[in-house]
Amino acid sequence: MEYKVGIGYDIHRLVAGRKLFLGGVEIPYPKGLLGHSDGDALMHALCDALLGALALGDIGEHFPDTDPQYKGAAGSRLLKQVKAMVDKSGYTINNVDIVIIAQEPGLTPFKQQMKENICGLLDITRERANIKAKTNEGLDAAGNKEAIATYALVSLVKGG
Ligand SMILES: [Zn+2]
Repeated sequence: MEYKVGIGYDIHRLVAGRKLFLGGVEIPYPKGLLGHSDGDALMHALCDALLGALALGDIGEHFPDTDPQYKGAAGSRLLKQVKAMVDKSGYTINNVDIVIIAQEPGLTPFKQQMKENICGLLDITRERANIKAKTNEGLDAAGNKEAIATYALVSLVKGG
């Protein structure tokens, strides 16, 4: 296969008393994402997209939320481990596209830093990564500010 494509999705509940991490950026907000790890839905969706492209299952299989070593784990740490799997596969990352769905907080000021973090962790140039942030028009859990969701799509190319 010359190309492989993978999709990832993740959603975490917004709760008081947690720091909010998205794309490895700590975002000032009264609530954060609930989870066994740091709840970074962007990093988790991206890990799942990469695992999907590699046909290696999902993030829950590799980093079980029952495993104490992943308690509070930074999303960047998980992404680094998945990147090592990409490196072993003989494929390289062609591009990454991400959609964050959050009614609040506004994410525009943080998108550039998220992109820097992702490009750094995946060792790709800036034109290979894109992050979009949308509200959910007040609809459903993300629209009601109860959660933040993320979709990620990646393509891999053989060799490189
Ligand atoms: Zn997650």
